[in-house]
Amino acid sequence: MIRGSTELVAIVGSPIAQVKSPENFNTWFANHALDMAMLPIDLQETALDAFVDSLRGWRNLRGCVVTVPYKQALAPRLDALSGRAEALGSVNVIRREADGRLLGDNVDGAGFLGAARLHGFIASGKRALILGCGGVGSAIAYALGEAGIHGITLSDPCAERVGALSEMLGNAFGQLAVATDYRSLQGFDLVVNASAVGMGGSGELPLPAALLATLAASTLVADVVTSPEITPLLQQARERGCPIQTGAQMAFAQLGHLGAFMGVTPLEI
Ligand code: NAD
Repeated sequence: MIRGSTELVAIVGSPIAQVKSPENFNTWFANHALDMAMLPIDLQETALDAFVDSLRGWRNLRGCVVTVPYKQALAPRLDALSGRAEALGSVNVIRREADGRLLGDNVDGAGFLGAARLHGFIASGKRALILGCGGVGSAIAYALGEAGIHGITLSDPCAERVGALSEMLGNAFGQLAVATDYRSLQGFDLVVNASAVGMGGSGELPLPAALLATLAASTLVADVVTSPEITPLLQQARERGCPIQTGAQMAFAQLGHLGAFMGVTPLEI
């Protein structure tokens, strides 16, 4: 029940009907008998500036989760950014301070790593292949860099994105070995599909099928796609005996990070 006293958080994007955060947060608030609620906001792009102004003045709003397509557009409109949000040029969560200042962070990578840790993956000294150098691929690569990974190989049909992410990682993590070419999956401790390939039952793989024959059973194979839960990549990896991490597991692992940044849940939930 939303009452006059209810403190709010929101999630903004467009479209918004598909997001799972409102039911996850509202269930958590209800289970913990908190007078809090999350509202979904389907926002038109032309309203972004007015929206940010409203957030500053919205006194019973603690924060706002940000999803596609506004992660990049909202970052420069906020009052301060975490180091990782600044480096990535994108936010997926905003905290409203009591004085109306808006602070941004990006916890996509932290959520990914949190889920990977539950599979026993420790990044330090390891090698990863990241397929997709857009928003979420960049966030995952940055989090792996922060966690001390030894090497990252980047792949994306868009050469500009590969170049930009290589440069950003090189500037942020001097010791990190960044490569942009691979002929086999052998030697990777982690392979991540960070593209939308495989979404919605398309049946597509984000890499040539023949390469899967080179996948070692010890490699953790992860996908960011949430629907279907078991993508063609995860299905084939599982058949080869690999541990797999789903997009849903990554999304779930982000909840505590999003809630803690907005000050409405603990980090571990
Ligand atoms: P984006 O458009 O910013 O980036 C996707 C990138 O993938 C693009 O650069 C594109 O060129 C690249 N790509 C396309 N085909 C490829 C291929 N075969 N190999 C390698 N790269 C390829 O999108 P985004 O915001 O990074 O989101 C990507 C996906 O991640 C979406 O499906 C989104 O729903 C999902 N996502 C999941 C979570 C989660 O918690 N599970 C969080 C955020 C985003």
